[in-house]
Amino acid sequence: MPGFELFGDAERKEVNDVLESGVLMRYGFDGARNGHWKAKELEQELQTTLGVKHAQLTSSGTTALNVALAVLGVGAGDEVIMPTFTFVASFESILAAGATPILVDIDDTLTLDPKAVEAAITPKTKVVMPVHMCGSMADLDALKAICDAHNLILLEDACQAIGGSYKGKKLGTIGDAGCFSFDYVKTITCGEGGAMITNDPNLAVNADHYTDHGHDHIGNDRGAEAHPFLGYNFRISELNAAVGLAQVRRLEDFVSLQRKHKKILKDALATIPEVSFRRIPDEDGDSAGFLSFFMPTKELTDKVVVAFKEHGVDAYWNYFENNWHYIRKWHHLKEKTSLFPLSDQIINGMQDLNTTDFSQSDDFISRNISCLIKLSWTQAEVQERAGKMVAAIRSVL
Ligand SMILES: *Cc1c(COP(=O)(O)O)cnc(C)c1O
Repeated sequence: MPGFELFGDAERKEVNDVLESGVLMRYGFDGARNGHWKAKELEQELQTTLGVKHAQLTSSGTTALNVALAVLGVGAGDEVIMPTFTFVASFESILAAGATPILVDIDDTLTLDPKAVEAAITPKTKVVMPVHMCGSMADLDALKAICDAHNLILLEDACQAIGGSYKGKKLGTIGDAGCFSFDYVKTITCGEGGAMITNDPNLAVNADHYTDHGHDHIGNDRGAEAHPFLGYNFRISELNAAVGLAQVRRLEDFVSLQRKHKKILKDALATIPEVSFRRIPDEDGDSAGFLSFFMPTKELTDKVVVAFKEHGVDAYWNYFENNWHYIRKWHHLKEKTSLFPLSDQIINGMQDLNTTDFSQSDDFISRNISCLIKLSWTQAEVQERAGKMVAAIRSVL
């Protein structure tokens, strides 16, 4: 998955354009920038690549979620439904909006369980936020049907699945808005960066203003611009955008490499009857950034983790013990440990995450191993790896 593996001449050329003019900011300085508008160009490139009307770059994937929630009008007293298996950015962005995160179980897709979502809906629910974890997608038809029936907003976190699609539409374009991360370890990197995409022109205009202190970007004198509403600084720099511009042009190649490598590993593991694979609602749309599989029990999964190490297999995770991605180790969230006072709405509105039953998520996550699919592997390396993985798994059966 990490685009940094293939950082090269194309990325250096785009960055050099910026270095030569010295204009590191995305707005203004028209005369000095030699015609280079890397952030603007990257937004246009994302629109074309993803087939979406508007893309707004941000300083990170987390801030892309902040911006999406803000322009969707989500704030104090609103509940946002999110999965137990994701990245900490999900609840960080919800809390930053002043809204209340409501955590629900995942299923064998490793993403939101539509039944659990339906059961969590209250009169305060405003948004359902599926996270397309580990390269592939949530059951978007089911989630969209729930959102339509209950008049809720669908916000896709596609930070780990850029280039994937669902029934012919790119991930991130199916909900009311979608978010991407271009941090250093994502499929496309800017070093740090992110984007919010939408087909709604009003959301797009508000995102443009909100990411830049509410500036209305009318005229060509930044100092004279008006502030129609409150905003923040979530801008990306031209240097970061330049890297992403080179990378997004390579996205199709990156995704085909991932698919080619993943197929070799998956075909090899499929020969082991005890191995089952994560359900992918649209197999053809898998971005293939990871290969995620299940063992029949937690005990066997723990043994495979050890056996992988012994057989020299790297870059895999069992998220049950993970601090970043699974609720079990989110003690700061469970205890609501904040540097500043949280609102009463959040304090009283959140579930007691120490006692809520997430046994369904525990079952899937504890039996799951997710392997990163790298771009830089040679064909021979992937074959060798497949052999080691099969040998490791067979050794514990
Ligand atoms: C990486 C990631 C984010 C946040 O992205 P940053 O750019 O690191 O802030 C959000 N959600 C998911 C699922 C991610 O993997």
